[in-house]
Amino acid sequence: MSGWLIRGARIAGGPPADIHIAGGAIAQTGAGPGAAAGAQVLDADGLVALPGLVDLHTHLREPGREDAETVETGTRAAALGGFTAVHAMANTEPVADTAGVVEQVWRLGNQAGYCDVRPVGAVTVGLGGTQLAELGAMADSAAGVRVFSDDGKCVADSLLMRRALEYVKAFDGVIAQHAQDPRLTEGAQLNEGEVSGRLGLAGWPAAAEEAVIARDCLLAAHVGSALHVCHVSTAGSVEIIRWAKSKGWRVTAEVTPHHLLLTDELAEGYDPVYKVNPPLRTQADVAGLRAGLADGTIDCVATDHAPHPVEAKETEWAAAAHGMTGLETALRVVQAAMVDTGLLDWAGVADRMSVRPARIGRLTGHGNPLVAGAPANLTLYDPGAPPEIVDPAAHASKSRNTPFAGMPLPGRVVATFLRGVPTVLDGKALDGKALDGKALDGKAAR
Ligand SMILES: [Zn+2]
Repeated sequence: MSGWLIRGARIAGGPPADIHIAGGAIAQTGAGPGAAAGAQVLDADGLVALPGLVDLHTHLREPGREDAETVETGTRAAALGGFTAVHAMANTEPVADTAGVVEQVWRLGNQAGYCDVRPVGAVTVGLGGTQLAELGAMADSAAGVRVFSDDGKCVADSLLMRRALEYVKAFDGVIAQHAQDPRLTEGAQLNEGEVSGRLGLAGWPAAAEEAVIARDCLLAAHVGSALHVCHVSTAGSVEIIRWAKSKGWRVTAEVTPHHLLLTDELAEGYDPVYKVNPPLRTQADVAGLRAGLADGTIDCVATDHAPHPVEAKETEWAAAAHGMTGLETALRVVQAAMVDTGLLDWAGVADRMSVRPARIGRLTGHGNPLVAGAPANLTLYDPGAPPEIVDPAAHASKSRNTPFAGMPLPGRVVATFLRGVPTVLDGKALDGKALDGKALDGKAAR
């Protein structure tokens, strides 16, 4: 007998229990499985055990922008954040709009071995917004793509959006939309409101997001397909999604950790670390997003981890790139915004950061409750760790553009297991070899 015996973990916040891992799966849970001779013991007293976190929205930047991130550095950051699977967005160079590029990203993920990498395919050729990409070929590839998105850009053409929604029905795919009316946001720098007026920066109206979400919900309903709304940022968007769900339409949505905690007031100092797309909004929006995540209108938290090299962010506001890193702080931010505020318990966090994103991404090997027989993908988290100041220099991500730098956040990811093999122990990343020699076929992992 070998494997791991995790002692006294609170599974999804429940009473302390032991978890015996063997052969890549959970062999047994409960009060003292006892017979685990030869297993390595991990004392998890006071730790919460969650099913391995799943991110629906990660920018790994490879191929093409390895100066910002690589699949290896990004997935190591993911493992340190408690993730066992990430969806890699398509806005790479070249764009992931063919079977060849998605298979390349998928293979790089297997080689790195820190977590499962599920490539997201582009909806349109080159993110150009005019011609559908080879959605079927990407779905049939070894990468088994099921989520398609032009993220970074909006599929603004209504007819093209309709065609994409129709096309993916054949293989149970989903279109993940970056909802942003391009005309209403030309040159936009910051949420349109009191702060943008005071700073003299071009405003980014909430209506530019909400109008596209409303249109897409109607299109998804009309063709009977699945829509996923990326990074919802306004309280009005939550209302529209709540309405669409009340109709029984196949609409899901995500919110980022930064939109759950930060507001546009942070832009007062013109520090581009707070520049992001969609922009940080108001306190009322933060309250609406938190309420939407708590009641399940918003299905999940997704990081929108968007690494950028120093020169792209440490410049004047108008010239700086949009985006923030987020993998290594996501769970801690969710604790601060949702758990410590009493809006979500740990079972709720397991649902919103693992179960539902795995379901939306059509990932069967992840997001399973931690019971006997389930793949041993799990995260051990210490919510009682004293708040620690976020230090970007300590991050595994190649980029340093975290808006939480210098901010105290509660909690600590102690360990992450991918199919029974630790990728993180005692808060430190191990060699990512969990997949070595047993990399799953994309189809098998679904
Ligand atoms: Zn986006």
